[in-house]
Amino acid sequence: MNRGQERLRSLLRRKNLDAVLFSSLENIRFLCGFTGSDGALIYGREERYFLSDSRYEEQAKGELQGAGFERYKKKLEGIARRLRALRVKRLGFEGSALTWETYQSLKSHLPRMTLVPLTAEIWDLRACKEPAEVEKVRQAIRIASESFADAVPRLKPGVREKTAGDFLEFRMKRRGGEASSFPIIVASGPRAALPHGKASAKRMEKGETVVVDFGVRHEGYHSDETKTIILGKPDGKQKKIYELVRKAQDKAIKAIRPGISVRAIDRAAREVISRAGYGPFFGHGTGHGIGLAVHEAPTVSPRGRGVVEPGMIFSVEPGVYLPGWGGVRLEDLVLVTDRGCEVLTYLSKELGDNVLKG
Ligand code: ZN
Ligand code: ZN
Repeated sequence: MNRGQERLRSLLRRKNLDAVLFSSLENIRFLCGFTGSDGALIYGREERYFLSDSRYEEQAKGELQGAGFERYKKKLEGIARRLRALRVKRLGFEGSALTWETYQSLKSHLPRMTLVPLTAEIWDLRACKEPAEVEKVRQAIRIASESFADAVPRLKPGVREKTAGDFLEFRMKRRGGEASSFPIIVASGPRAALPHGKASAKRMEKGETVVVDFGVRHEGYHSDETKTIILGKPDGKQKKIYELVRKAQDKAIKAIRPGISVRAIDRAAREVISRAGYGPFFGHGTGHGIGLAVHEAPTVSPRGRGVVEPGMIFSVEPGVYLPGWGGVRLEDLVLVTDRGCEVLTYLSKELGDNVLKG
């Protein structure tokens, strides 16, 4: 049993629930091993059932761990039938995943059952990774990093952002990745001021700053990393902003150890940027957990809650975005250890290593 399952069991007891209904594919995979794209998991105190239709029967029977398979023709009727058979009186559900329609339908099928929404408790389930999960993230990082190296020759003046991004994605798949973690960001020149500037038809130009944010999925687990490169000799402002973001990232990484609050980690990065007068130009959180989903617990931001624990993997990705000029973001993934953290991503974030004289 992994730590997530232990947390879930104590949650069942604490909230006096007979079972929890899972509908998000990441949690289903995490709790019973099913990797397909449709189904529901009823996680009871003693019994667990994964329910799906005939398309997934064979696959589920091969993959399921610790849960029985049950086939349905109509999803809701199947779920309701099983809940009735288990005599579930209080059912927890994923507040962020169950649709309003399904909720209403469950209520009408089982009018006497109490439905209990779970939000933060469920959000934290997958936060601490098992060694096997860490290994999958490491593998994803390796695939992405090697692919980035393959794509470096394409990051040069005259090449369209999208051409470079597509090549990077192709290499990641070629090297064994399942899919890009998200649409790759290649944002050059003034477009680098868009924190999520998807690769466009714009051609990169000499002297520009280029933000490249990329990652790959490997056995369900994601990587996520951002490099900022400069096409040619950096000018004073490029140097200044780059070094500022680098310092902010470094401060945050140095602050990480078990027991420190996520807000304190965010603050460590934010203070460096604010003190230099660029606070208003760092509009997003410092980081996010990653694993079966690209964004999961913990949320490392001014609004995040809780403290970090050994086994958590999250990003540290401060950035400064100046409208009309461009931006710099540096993103690494860290694993919280017993005494501090290990930086899992290994591509250099030193300015000198990111100046491409193509
Ligand atoms: Zn990223
Ligand atoms: Zn990220």
